[in-house]
Amino acid sequence: MLLQEERELIVEYGKQMSAQGLSKGTSGNISIYDKESDLMVISPSGIGYFDTKPEDVVVMKLDGTIVESDRKPSSEWGLHAAFYKEKPGTGAVVHTHSTFCTTFACLNQSIKSVHYVIGGAGVTEIPVAPYRTFGTDELAKSAIGACGESKAVLLANHGLVASGVNLKKAFSLAVNIEFVAEMQYRTMCIGQPVILTDEQMHASMERSKTYGQK
Ligand code: 13P
Ligand code: ZN
Repeated sequence: MLLQEERELIVEYGKQMSAQGLSKGTSGNISIYDKESDLMVISPSGIGYFDTKPEDVVVMKLDGTIVESDRKPSSEWGLHAAFYKEKPGTGAVVHTHSTFCTTFACLNQSIKSVHYVIGGAGVTEIPVAPYRTFGTDELAKSAIGACGESKAVLLANHGLVASGVNLKKAFSLAVNIEFVAEMQYRTMCIGQPVILTDEQMHASMERSKTYGQK
């Protein structure tokens, strides 16, 4: 099987996405881009994450040509491909319908810097892409158009897309943005959230460059 390691990663992270409550049922999808072969490895459409096996994962070209699999790729393959085509350096994309991100997506309201970890997206605000039907080229264009320099974007009345250099980073960004969205929601329930200034955000984004282990 082609790209076996990547297929296994898609299965592993799909289970995590489900287990951590970022995705309900078969919502959401995950992909990895292999630069060397110019191929995308993506979760199959409509199969539960705990039922997905490495052989169900689809290997395809960015133009939609299936290279290896008996399964249909995620209906959002065009959205994932758009990130790889339009945002160089992207190695993985995670799309979720996580509760708090989707709450703001349904309000067509961006996520602000109510907590510093939003800086992981490389911006101080997660924009909202105008609503388009799921699984369409129009949705892919809408998402890329609204995303700009951000590594993450909300899809109006739909969910979140997070990207990164690899799947670990893209997934962790999806988790962190869901956390920021929850903080924005909770603070709005009992008061007026304090939004960090651009200066505060830039200082924290600088500090983040040396966070954790080497
Ligand atoms: P797939 O099961 O086709 O990946 O679709 C889920 C989804 O979230 C559509 O936007
Ligand atoms: Zn979706």
